[in-house]
Amino acid sequence: MNNLLLKIDLSSEKVGIEEISDEILEQYLGGRGLGVKLLCDNLKGKIDPLAPGNVMIFAIGPLTSTIVPTSGRFSLVTKSPLTNTLTHSNSGGFWGSVFKRCGYDALLVTGKLNGDTKGYILIDGVSVKIKDAGDLWGLNSGETVEKLNELEGKCQVLSIGPAGENLVRISAIMNQAHRAFGRGGVGTVMGSKGLKAIVVKGGTKKFSPPDLDHLKQLNLVASDKIKVFPITSQGLPLFGTAVMMKVINAFGMLPINNNQKGQDTRIDDVSGERLREDFFQRDEGCYACPIRCGRLTNTGEMKGKGPEFESLWALGPQCGIFDLKIITHANYFCNKYGLDTISTGVTIACAMELQQRGLLNDAGMKFGNGKVLLDLIRKIAYKEGIGGELAEGSLRFAEKSGGVQYAMQVKGMELPAYDPRGAMGQALNYATSNRGACHLTGYLIGMELLGVPKLIDRFTIAGKADQLVLKQNQSAVEDSLVTCKFVGFALGLDFQVRFLQAVTGIDFNITELVKVGERIHTLERMFNLREGFSKKDDTLPERFLKEPLNEGASKGQVVPLEKLLSDYYQVRDWNEDGIPTDALLDELDLVRLT
Ligand code: SF4
Repeated sequence: MNNLLLKIDLSSEKVGIEEISDEILEQYLGGRGLGVKLLCDNLKGKIDPLAPGNVMIFAIGPLTSTIVPTSGRFSLVTKSPLTNTLTHSNSGGFWGSVFKRCGYDALLVTGKLNGDTKGYILIDGVSVKIKDAGDLWGLNSGETVEKLNELEGKCQVLSIGPAGENLVRISAIMNQAHRAFGRGGVGTVMGSKGLKAIVVKGGTKKFSPPDLDHLKQLNLVASDKIKVFPITSQGLPLFGTAVMMKVINAFGMLPINNNQKGQDTRIDDVSGERLREDFFQRDEGCYACPIRCGRLTNTGEMKGKGPEFESLWALGPQCGIFDLKIITHANYFCNKYGLDTISTGVTIACAMELQQRGLLNDAGMKFGNGKVLLDLIRKIAYKEGIGGELAEGSLRFAEKSGGVQYAMQVKGMELPAYDPRGAMGQALNYATSNRGACHLTGYLIGMELLGVPKLIDRFTIAGKADQLVLKQNQSAVEDSLVTCKFVGFALGLDFQVRFLQAVTGIDFNITELVKVGERIHTLERMFNLREGFSKKDDTLPERFLKEPLNEGASKGQVVPLEKLLSDYYQVRDWNEDGIPTDALLDELDLVRLT
């Protein structure tokens, strides 16, 4: 690591550099862990996420920009305007590797540009400038990348589109034109600061591990494992993440019509296989990635990237839409405007159900209406008409319409593509994830559905808390190193430990690394408790607790959350109200936040 934090206060336009100690890096690694630590140290309690005082931290990890497979990733941590919780997100591409070569481990941005000034940050090697973005404001993500490459030469760009500029609570930060820090409304935080983009280029810092030959040897073994494991050698490279559409549908847990159904016979029309047949142009990968799950696509009318699985589902079956061209265009529009595809699709699906239940008076808002979907995406981004209300996300919209039970969200963030009634461990993860309904912070789908690394019964609740706690802690480690979740299918945590040792020379073992993950997860919990969250927020929409699916392979199931949650608190060594004990905080070297 570089041991340096780049700090930018947009209010005073001051740029500073601070040292990050080895002790902090050993305790939090980098990426998400380092971001969480810096957020807790730099953010006052109960601050409005859209106030100038909110802080955004972009952090790379010890494995970022090395030769380790999928090591191009980096993390963002901030306070979410969608949920008011701490939120973290990670993204791939090449921005993180260039930033690391500039000599920093993290960038902390706070404050707000004066008055109506709009700006962008340029990090060019060691030189850092805040530049005028008056001409960029209003451009979509593709146009912004193009313009900045014209102005600054070849560079990597994080930017917001019109959605972030207009303070849409479900907006994303786009990484180049098509990748994203998608969840939690992070684009809105950037928009509230008058910050259009963060550009990186240049940088000469070289990667120099203590024993390069050993690392290369380890890399060869890892690459061989990736090449023979079916998901990383065939499923993802051939069909992208959309390969999951048919799999999840077969388990009867693909949310359809706002989670009113879990399976549909039209699945072949919107599968990863169909996407490849009809629109696929070529694959695309992040820095140092042998898997290359990205898809460049062309519908004959438009070109772009994706959709990947979650987007394909959220803008498709969740809204009752099984027309692949419409879904693909909807995905392009979300990327262009800078919207989180999951929250956008699920919020529109919520509105469609409110209309179905007579709680909304908007005749076109019907499941299956692709024309309305495409129209609403633009309206949300520009806050036009009903789009202005949908821009607040499903919870706020449904509360206003008198049908909060139809918002498929936890802590305000919309649920991803796995109906919790079909996998009890995943259900518990949604309820307890610190950033709201998130599939990635404890992806038990690997075990409950795919049998990776081993198959466990998806409906059983016994033992699920133990498995989830371990998975959540491991995920915190992966997000802090930072590596891609998909490589984890082929390489277990033992590989991460060996890579970390080879890159840093520090002699971690698996138990110590899992403890680091526990520290990160627990500190996030402490942040949320300080913000006023409590046990009552560790829950799921009523539908999943009381209303079984009446057909398909997950028929008849509801989530026995109370029992799952009490087991979970016990395994975590939190009291019955979900508060970490003093003994645990001592063990993890944490203090209560005030
Ligand atoms: S598997 Fe996909 S998302 Fe992960 S690093 Fe590779 S290309 Fe990027």
